[in-house]
Amino acid sequence: MRLGMIIDTRRCYGCLACVVACKAANATPPGHFRCKVKIGEKGVFPNSTQTFLPTLCNHCEDAPCINVCPTGASHRDKDGVVLVDAEKCIGCQMCMNACPYDARSFFSDPNPSY
Ligand code: SF4
Ligand code: SF4
Ligand code: SF4
Repeated sequence: MRLGMIIDTRRCYGCLACVVACKAANATPPGHFRCKVKIGEKGVFPNSTQTFLPTLCNHCEDAPCINVCPTGASHRDKDGVVLVDAEKCIGCQMCMNACPYDARSFFSDPNPSY
């Protein structure tokens, strides 16, 4: 089995509900977002429009974050999901530099009490 999640970017209107939901589900500290929506503009006012691109971890088939991780903390489970084992992570942040989608963020307390 290989799990997947698809976003139809043509239907995204930038409400940021996914950003809020992800933040609530993962209890990330202020300033840290695992789900982001990139907002762009096309044209010149008053004939301009906005574009929205939700970005999350893509669980890449050949994942750079796994390839560079020196401890095996970044890994893939049996369903194809890319995960981080907090017990094995040494905080080197090499996965952050390797991810081409800016999907990794780093904070030191894995069990914050926000
Ligand atoms: S910003 Fe997120 S929740 Fe809102 S429409 Fe786009 S994908 Fe859906
Ligand atoms: S963290 Fe980045 S490189 Fe790793 S699977 Fe997710 S999108 Fe791919
Ligand atoms: S911070 Fe370092 S040890 Fe932790 S998951 Fe990323 S690459 Fe692996």
